[in-house]
Amino acid sequence: MATTPPPQTYRVKSFGCQMNVYDGERMAELLGEQGIRPATEGEDADLVVLNTCHIREKAAEKVYSDIGRLKRDDGTVPLIAVAGCVAQAEGEEIMARAPTVRMVVGPQAYHRLPEMLVEAQAGRRVTDTDMPAETKFDVLPRRRRSGPTAFLTVQEGCDKFCTYCVVPYTRGAEISRAYADLIDEAQRLLEAGAKEITLLGQNVNAWSGEDGKGRPVGLDGLIRDLAALPDLARIRYTTSHPNDMTEGLIAAHGEVAKLMPFLHLPVQSGSDRVLKAMNRSHSVASYLAVLDRARTARPDIALSGDFIVGFPGESDAEFEETLSLVESVGYAQCFSFKYSARPGTPAATMDGHVAPEVMDERLRRLQATLGRSQLAFNRASLGKTCEVLVERKGKLPGQWLGKSPWLQSVHFTGEAAVGDLVRVELVEAGPNSIAGRLVQ
Ligand code: SF4
Repeated sequence: MATTPPPQTYRVKSFGCQMNVYDGERMAELLGEQGIRPATEGEDADLVVLNTCHIREKAAEKVYSDIGRLKRDDGTVPLIAVAGCVAQAEGEEIMARAPTVRMVVGPQAYHRLPEMLVEAQAGRRVTDTDMPAETKFDVLPRRRRSGPTAFLTVQEGCDKFCTYCVVPYTRGAEISRAYADLIDEAQRLLEAGAKEITLLGQNVNAWSGEDGKGRPVGLDGLIRDLAALPDLARIRYTTSHPNDMTEGLIAAHGEVAKLMPFLHLPVQSGSDRVLKAMNRSHSVASYLAVLDRARTARPDIALSGDFIVGFPGESDAEFEETLSLVESVGYAQCFSFKYSARPGTPAATMDGHVAPEVMDERLRRLQATLGRSQLAFNRASLGKTCEVLVERKGKLPGQWLGKSPWLQSVHFTGEAAVGDLVRVELVEAGPNSIAGRLVQ
């Protein structure tokens, strides 16, 4: 391949979960440290990083069509790097199928992007899907930029091996970042303007470490210590597993004022037989018991979940169990998906795959039920006055958008600025957002 001049501009396109968004932000900082600037809206970037997600069937195919779309009218292409979970899962396969790609880098190796770039500019094609001993966090540049809300990855990987999931294969075994590094990175995010920090992990509540005095702590201990940082106004965390919801973490919801009254706890199905086939290692009853304890600790807590419809073998009756679970919980919001066979996962070779039209119908019914539940939650919030963290301007003159403590999208008009925490009365509820009246 021909050599190319050093790129002046970059664009990082991240797909999928918040962890990928976080990794995308870190890769952008890394490229910024190399003196490469972000391409502006509509500007043709010299270097494009496709930070991919592998959760859905079409995810991998989508990467190849995205690569194809990078070809310019004059037939030239930018320097292309494929990162994220498809890079980890497919590696050299991407090089074979897409000759224009110069770099393939996995989620645990992107701290080596600068060296890979030198190789690529010299005309070589490089792949790095290592899961190295040294973690990327030891090498990545310090955080310098942040909006009012920021993500902070505290844990990576997963040891649960749900039978439908690729994460344990693409992100590796569970690792917890060091307590001191997390306190330091949080401090940098606050200095850079953050008011709210969301702690991230594929299994965030599996995080464990030693605090500044060498004492063993879990996620609740980390949350309590972060809450002591004066400039930090709000703390959130995602994504959790029901089996790692400790008594300490549940108690923190009742005792730590800066911990927002919001719990995202995936369950996937309302049928114990399906949960067993998914290797979720919890039952519907144990899941509901965790939610009950969370509600006891924090009665106004907003609950969120994840659901999969059409898992191999799921019967009509078992799907009905999922619907009744949703109705019994009263979720404030939820993510819901059709089952998607992922290569290399045990479920992909299971019998009883559900017909696509049946999956479509089940998803339609589930989302209708979830929509009613979300609207009911928003309506029940009307008349409350709460703090809203202003995230950006709205479309209308003088309109601002932000999030309530229950992670509801709130819009209001009046005197405010990005990063402000303002008091707003919730006056009109929609399924996905609430209109507010600025009180102060
Ligand atoms: S707990 Fe989550 S990330 Fe881990 S295997 Fe299950 S679905 Fe995947």
